Amino acid sequence: MAQRLTKDTPLVVASHNKGKIREINDLLAHYGLSIKTAEELDLEEPEETGLTFEANAELKALAAAKATGLPALADDSGFSVDALDGDPGIYSARWAGPDRDFNQAMRNVEEKLRALDATSPDKRVCRFVAVLCLAWPDGETQFFRGEVEGHAVWPPRGGNGFGYDPMFQPEGYDITFGEMTSDQKHDWAPGRERGLSHRSRAFKLFADACLEG
Ligand code: IMP
Repeated sequence: MAQRLTKDTPLVVASHNKGKIREINDLLAHYGLSIKTAEELDLEEPEETGLTFEANAELKALAAAKATGLPALADDSGFSVDALDGDPGIYSARWAGPDRDFNQAMRNVEEKLRALDATSPDKRVCRFVAVLCLAWPDGETQFFRGEVEGHAVWPPRGGNGFGYDPMFQPEGYDITFGEMTSDQKHDWAPGRERGLSHRSRAFKLFADACLEG
């Protein structure tokens, strides 16, 4: 039986990525949980040495849970292009280089797609993936995976969100994540079937298993 979180226990959000922390806060706001961030707690950022989203989420969540004695939630996520064998995938952040230049990262994706002559939407199928790991101080871990499929557009459109959002158009929509408000991108509130974004879909599974209210 999975352990559940209560409103009296603070939850550590084990991420140093400001865009993600903002989104995780938005998603958790529905539950009135008390949140502490890795930055507030001065936690070190472990090196992401895993070869899967699950392995990286687990190492971040376990490091934070062990360091704080509190349950910790980590997300490992990425942008995965089918024609590029899933790249950039777990290396999504690294494709943006040390300056975290996502315009450059998006250009890298586009150049590789052009080299394959992938110009029509069916050859540009891609997805965002998010894996959440909730780790407990005793070492127990739980995983929740969300995905959203779409296609890569060029040029990128919209200034909202972060990372690869401006080049991702989800299936069934004619605007990109970069053109959506945060509410449109996640499209989720407690009680709904499931959200739109990979992160809100993973959150829905996490909330159903571990949260009250
Ligand atoms: P990590 O999970 O911190 O290793 O990095 C995930 C990377 O994937 C981010 O830096 C972004 O480049 C990309 N990514 C993950 N989720 C999103 C999203 O919702 N929108 C845009 N880019 C994302």
